[in-house]
Amino acid sequence: MSQQENKCPVMAVKVRLEKFYNDDSKDGMCSKCHPCKLGMYDAIKIFETIQSGKGADKHIAQLKRIAVDVKDGGMCKKGKDHADILAAFLKDHEADLARHIAGVCTSHECKYLVRYEINRDLCTMCDKCAAVCKDFAIEGQKLVQGKTGFTPFRIRQKRCTHCGECIKVCPENAISINEVITVADAEPEKPVRHVVGTCPV
Ligand code: SF4
Ligand code: SF4
Ligand code: SF4
Repeated sequence: MSQQENKCPVMAVKVRLEKFYNDDSKDGMCSKCHPCKLGMYDAIKIFETIQSGKGADKHIAQLKRIAVDVKDGGMCKKGKDHADILAAFLKDHEADLARHIAGVCTSHECKYLVRYEINRDLCTMCDKCAAVCKDFAIEGQKLVQGKTGFTPFRIRQKRCTHCGECIKVCPENAISINEVITVADAEPEKPVRHVVGTCPV
């Protein structure tokens, strides 16, 4: 995903630093001086930690320190420019960073800070989502005319790898991406009676 496609400022700045760090061309980091090489590596790892839901308040201070160190210790304009990018992000988006540390990505781009969920009121139990889920994270029973006692569809959060395939195939728009912090872990579902096409007599 390119930087222009990232709405999340945390994702965007991490992608930008990664591009600099991994670029083998003359535009990328040359690795000649330690403050730049180690600082950029540490900054990327800190962003990854925050995006995985393991962020802590100390990470903001660590990123600020890295921005200063790379600016002071970097030996060329490229390195200093990227220190400025990090510093500008920390100045303009500290609230976004703090929100991520609290477990929320409002852009829903940091995949470990969101969860996929099925709205049972919209779900018609067609089984299309379960059929495409390679991680076997979706359980439920396909509705069969004339039978009763179906287990509703739900996503097992521990198995879900946030690939997004289920959303693409749901004909009812019954699957949504929600912020982790707003939703309590669901209890195991009990089968519900779902009566279809029974004889009225
Ligand atoms: S600051 Fe410049 S010279 Fe130093 S590692 Fe980074 S790109 Fe290379
Ligand atoms: S997002 Fe991917 S892994 Fe998660 S339930 Fe949907 S298809 Fe399965
Ligand atoms: S694809 Fe949509 S409607 Fe069909 S079972 Fe899954 S969530 Fe329900």
